[in-house]
Amino acid sequence: HPVALRRALISVSDKTGMIEFARKLSARGVEILSTGGSAKTLREAGLTVVDVADVTGFPEMMDGRVKTLHPAVHGGLLALRDNEEHQAAMQAHNIEPIDLLVVNLYPFEETVAKGASYDDCIENIDIGGPAMIRAAAKNHAFVSVIVDVEDYDALLAELDANNDHTTLEFRQRQAQIAYARTAAYDASVSTWMAGAIGEQTPRRRAFAGKLAQSLRYGENPHQQAAFYVTDEARPGVATAKQWQGKELSYNNINDTDAAFELVAEFDPSQGPACAIIKHANPCGVAQGATALEAYKRAFDCDRTSAFGGIIALNQPLDGATAEEIVKIFTEVVIAPDADDDAKAIFAAKKNLRLLTTGGLADPKAGGLTFRQVAGGFLVQGRDNGHVGLDDLKIVTERQPSPEELKDLLFAWTVAKHVKSNAIVYAKDMATVGIGAGQMSRVDSTRIGRRKSEDMAEILGLAEPLTNGAAVASDAFFPFADGVEALAEAGAKAVIQPGGSMRDDEVIAAANRLGLAMVFTGQRHFRH
Ligand code: 5GP
Repeated sequence: HPVALRRALISVSDKTGMIEFARKLSARGVEILSTGGSAKTLREAGLTVVDVADVTGFPEMMDGRVKTLHPAVHGGLLALRDNEEHQAAMQAHNIEPIDLLVVNLYPFEETVAKGASYDDCIENIDIGGPAMIRAAAKNHAFVSVIVDVEDYDALLAELDANNDHTTLEFRQRQAQIAYARTAAYDASVSTWMAGAIGEQTPRRRAFAGKLAQSLRYGENPHQQAAFYVTDEARPGVATAKQWQGKELSYNNINDTDAAFELVAEFDPSQGPACAIIKHANPCGVAQGATALEAYKRAFDCDRTSAFGGIIALNQPLDGATAEEIVKIFTEVVIAPDADDDAKAIFAAKKNLRLLTTGGLADPKAGGLTFRQVAGGFLVQGRDNGHVGLDDLKIVTERQPSPEELKDLLFAWTVAKHVKSNAIVYAKDMATVGIGAGQMSRVDSTRIGRRKSEDMAEILGLAEPLTNGAAVASDAFFPFADGVEALAEAGAKAVIQPGGSMRDDEVIAAANRLGLAMVFTGQRHFRH
């Protein structure tokens, strides 16, 4: 099915590369039809162009809402070239075939991103463009469609390789890309409207993202992968500026997101905070008087695991902290900003990736999160749940001290970002033992404790820091054994949602073991 190009319609909002491309088509003897602004630009560049208005017999009208919506255009795109009835209809109505459609749409996404008014956004919903794209793509047996400036060269290469014809394979691939574009376009209109009218539920929505990066590979080298960003982008890995280092990998992006979402929980006005992430779980989180101290304290939670980790800060990276960070191998550092000293120090470490976000994400903001399952995906609101001192219910005879309460809330905040079953031991606003992702809560308890014992040995401490620690559990204790394991590890205060059938037994065990315990009434599963 090779098809020769005789007539092309060019109607583009983004006019990058258009003149050059049209000139090359013209040189190959292709007749060019075009709409208002595109035609004007081409004519000014000295090209011969036929106005679509002359083809339709109608002027462009209603602020451009109606330009190409006419049978002379859509018939030319949709007619089957090998169908007698279609051919007869073309002759009867004076419709000539269009073999190539070049369209890029009104910049709706960019208009939304600029924070434009409701009416401006509405006016930037392209109608005729998607209609033509879908028509040309449907008729890919005969028609080529180009929706992306990047594909101008691909078309020219196709013509070069095929004696000025296009192959069916080429037209099919471009049709597939074309439908991806119109689907993503309408999804972003729907997403914008959901926001504009305050629709919170993920029901009756369509989702699409914009390709931000083709990744070298996925979670493993044999998997292909790509990074898409959505219109819901918040300060974080999707919008960050990368200053140096290799391209981010699939796992880097995933882990960097986990790191920055966690550190964004800590309001910078309450002091610097640092999170170190390995495999999407924190291996150390701490606050400190300075960023340097926060990093050192986070590092001291689990120095072994921190190697090759991802570091996030809730405030600009400074030289002193950068100096400390480069002492071991780190994959990525992400912070709201970085000063010149820090950048200079990192510059000597070619492989270290430095990202700045320009700000922190709001941990209480809404938004949607996605998880893939075979044959579909799950959508839910972000876990933006938050508890403060006033939400806590003390359920034991022993009351937590004010210091313990601070550590309990700190541990609770970290636990929200640890894979379930999550157990987080904390002391003086630093994690001292983290048990993540176990199938039994008791195992997470023991792992956190063991990590702490290992660190005590490395640091030459008399006893593990879990002794006397505050500890958070992301979900309730179904039995008293979890609390007994915590007491065995030396923990003194516990924060957990409560709500188990056996809360009474759990509280009785805590009383017997001299623990203080508070309920949050809120759970933070993260599976
Ligand atoms: P131009 O700059 O050539 O005047 O306009 C190009 C833009 O108009 C393209 O983005 C194209 O998708 C869009 N367009 C083409 N036909 C129609 C139409 O009938 N209605 C609307 N709303 N947009 C159109």
